[in-house]
Amino acid sequence: MNKNTAIKVQNLTKAYKLYSQPIDRLKESLNPFGKKYHKDFYALKDVNFEIKKGETVGIIGRNGSGKSTLLKIITGVLTPTSGRVNVHGKISAILELGAGFNPEMTGLENIYLNTSISGMSKDATDKKIEEILDFAELGEFIHQPLKTYSSGMKARLGFAVAINIDPDILIVDEALAVGDAAFQRKCFAKMEQIREAGATILFVSHSEGSIVSLCSRAIWLSNGEKVIEGEPKLVTGLYMKNSSKKQINKQEIQKELEELEKNSEESEKKEEKKKEQKIKPKPQIEEYYDPSLKPKSTIYYEEKGAKISDVKITTLDGEEVNVLVHGREYLYKYVVKTYENICDARFGCLIKNKQGIALGGGSYSLLEQESNKDLEIGAYEVIWKFKAIFNEGIYSINSGFSSNKEYVHRILDAYMFKIKPIHKRVFTANINCIETIKWRKND
Ligand code: ADP
Ligand code: MG
Repeated sequence: MNKNTAIKVQNLTKAYKLYSQPIDRLKESLNPFGKKYHKDFYALKDVNFEIKKGETVGIIGRNGSGKSTLLKIITGVLTPTSGRVNVHGKISAILELGAGFNPEMTGLENIYLNTSISGMSKDATDKKIEEILDFAELGEFIHQPLKTYSSGMKARLGFAVAINIDPDILIVDEALAVGDAAFQRKCFAKMEQIREAGATILFVSHSEGSIVSLCSRAIWLSNGEKVIEGEPKLVTGLYMKNSSKKQINKQEIQKELEELEKNSEESEKKEEKKKEQKIKPKPQIEEYYDPSLKPKSTIYYEEKGAKISDVKITTLDGEEVNVLVHGREYLYKYVVKTYENICDARFGCLIKNKQGIALGGGSYSLLEQESNKDLEIGAYEVIWKFKAIFNEGIYSINSGFSSNKEYVHRILDAYMFKIKPIHKRVFTANINCIETIKWRKND
């Protein structure tokens, strides 16, 4: 294996034997002619991928798609039916809740048990114990047996141990989902720190946002098979687009990803050329339209009776702009053409930052707000007035149109805009919620 590779998965398959009744297992083992009484069920089917050292890779997929099975095989908890996994480096894993813990032992005893299984001496654990206890925030409960812990408490303990044994490879299986928001933020911050320190991270999540913000690559699993892997925004976007489908067409999705990748490469090249030609935007404080500012990760959902088009932002006077001045009001517009009558119609928009984190948006339901009539066939212009309360940076918007709470059409990263600051004052993060700042000396 290449020495820059952390994990290599080759033709990995895991089959379970399913018996329709328990007695069939016995019948099968006793049958002199080797008659089969089971059906094979494939939790993983010929999965291949490679993770380089220092990469952060996210795995996404529906419940039952094989994510946990894959992580368990990589960590050696399960053996594959066929295929192989090579791992280079010390793994620390947070698998399903409570895995690797002894329920009768206290939290503290479990910490020592787990660090020693991971090859840490008692002395080394003694040195780290403060940090581990601090992170777990379990207080006096650390002296109680693990069986008395809530799932959130088990997750905190598991995470505290896993990240403090200085892993080369950190593997996390949805453990974060059970923690509260403050704990999740703390874990993400710690994972970022571990990533910065050069460790490899493999991470399963239901949340597209956290995969986009943390990972350099994403892999989508469906029914035990790898559908696609690639740029996290594109992979999670295509996953979301297909999330309501019972059957997906792997080849079609792979093709769509290739197209998207090609487009983003081309637009990158074009942009570079423009930069070379030194076309600079006008230096005024007015808003303007910069033709090179185009989203590279636009994903179109399948049209199911309607189509969204002509997405743009304009000034209140109707001039298209995409470099906006902080604090001013603008219009976000798109056209929805319907090809059939749409019941429970709802228009939506969602503004995200560069990392794909949702910042704000809304939906407008005709049913709730106007009448209980269907939206008849026709073309409609939807206009959202908004205030550019965002700080300096680049943002993108999704446009959506749904019927009975299912998307009839949706465009992810339909439009992109940039915010120019109006003055030199520094604001933190994406949204400016500060009106004024005053200060005085207390007597
Ligand atoms: P995920 O983590 O993506 O939700 P899992 O890897 O846990 O999915 O499971 C993949 C599939 O394998 C599921 O359909 C699950 O029911 C099945 N499975 C897991 N463990 C067993 C087992 N011991 N026997 C039979 N089927 C199993
Ligand atoms: Mg799972």
